[in-house]
Amino acid sequence: MQVLSVTPEIFPLIKTGGLADVTGALPIALAGKGVAMRTLVPGYPVVMDAFKKKKAVYQYPLLQGGKASVHAVKVGELDLFVLDAPHLFDRQGGPYGTVTGSDWPDNWRRFAALSQAGGDIAGGAISGYQPDIVHAHDWQSAMTLAYMRYGKAVGVPSLITVHNLAFQGQFGAGIFGELGLPGVAMQLDGVEYYGGVGFLKAGLQAAWAVTTVSPTYAQEIRSPEFGMGLDGLINMRAVDLYGIVNGIDVDIWNPATDKHLVANYSAETLEARGLNRKAVEDRFNLENDDSPIVCVVSRLTWQKGMDILAAVVDGVVQRGARLAVLGSGDAGLEGSLLAAAARHRGRVGVVIGYDEALSHIMQGGSDAIIIPSRFEPCGLTQLYGLRYGCVPVVARTGGLADTIIDANEAALSAGVATGFQFAPNNGGALLHAIRRLVEAHARPATWASVQRQGMKADVSWDKSAEKYVELYRLLLSKRAA
Ligand code: ADP
Repeated sequence: MQVLSVTPEIFPLIKTGGLADVTGALPIALAGKGVAMRTLVPGYPVVMDAFKKKKAVYQYPLLQGGKASVHAVKVGELDLFVLDAPHLFDRQGGPYGTVTGSDWPDNWRRFAALSQAGGDIAGGAISGYQPDIVHAHDWQSAMTLAYMRYGKAVGVPSLITVHNLAFQGQFGAGIFGELGLPGVAMQLDGVEYYGGVGFLKAGLQAAWAVTTVSPTYAQEIRSPEFGMGLDGLINMRAVDLYGIVNGIDVDIWNPATDKHLVANYSAETLEARGLNRKAVEDRFNLENDDSPIVCVVSRLTWQKGMDILAAVVDGVVQRGARLAVLGSGDAGLEGSLLAAAARHRGRVGVVIGYDEALSHIMQGGSDAIIIPSRFEPCGLTQLYGLRYGCVPVVARTGGLADTIIDANEAALSAGVATGFQFAPNNGGALLHAIRRLVEAHARPATWASVQRQGMKADVSWDKSAEKYVELYRLLLSKRAA
């Protein structure tokens, strides 16, 4: 089975969030299951630099203006189609914006171009390659499904995975004329959205199936509270809606071999975590004692509930935990967390920035990781936490609810608990969870059992990849019908 994946990010080449981890890991997990996945990705500078021999397999004028070509290359284990369109992607900065963080004003054009390439390839533009299925991700590649539908690939089964419904790619009606789509596409069941053009909306409309990255989030987005204005459409698509939890790369995230750690360990040698814990204390200027270190590795945003945490830092410290925060994002949140660290020297440490190596040490040395997200399509850091014996403390929402088993009395005595859940998501409930955590941490046998239980959980891509294969098969059977 040939599957074309279309994505704006892919680990290890270009990553701003969990989406990249998924698109980077899935092809490798699928390879052993009879599915050959090729990934179409924009030719950002880091992507173009990742391969030497440039040989275009497709050269064409873009419907949105300018010329482009597609290179078929292999980078590591990944089979890529790289969209080379220098006027759109050869820029310093992030995939979506400038170095200072403001969005590129022509993002609609950039990701319409990516999507056109996806639609063209789905329609057989590259000789010798015909995907059986097209798998798009988020708004940046969602229009692939519109280009397929209004172009030559209307019969090719497609799905779109929503990694985060908060990002929808909405633009004014004025861009429509430059998308190169037929006029009939600008209607309610096409790309039109509240009078403008909605990229994600168009994808949700055209996809044969819609997936989210956890079953709970798939249900949540059917409600106005989580649906971000798209709940009506998502309800209409409910029979084609699936939730498949993400896995993680268990080779990269393996405490027994992780090169970033000061000391490697397994469920049998948890005491070796002490050396990593010391590294966390040093890096965050925390006092050295036996109280639990609760860490945060996160974008500092409202979605992640960082304001809820920032408002109760004093309470976290009072309840006997130390806090180590790694993250960047909202300037106001960065400021209030830094202020909390200044107030609680030795008990709270904050590092502002993005630091992959440090994130590993934190999982390997902290006692717990707290994730108070308001909504969480899947979440990866709680899965890393499980694997590293860094006990997750999570808001009961989305993928967090699906992947963590709360350490209530029943779960503890049955030996199945893997973390702590709290609800509703507010400061009081969060502090209550911290209190439960501090109490459990004071009972070493209980704590180690929660750690070990988490480390036993299967968080690999294997199970998830199996579910995608099932869905791909279902779509192929629909095509046959
Ligand atoms: P999202 O994609 O919504 O940001 P996820 O939990 O799905 O949230 O994925 C976040 C990913 O980014 C994880 O791999 C996490 O370790 C990583 N990450 C987030 N913030 C930082 C940071 N400041 N430094 C290093 N890694 C980070």
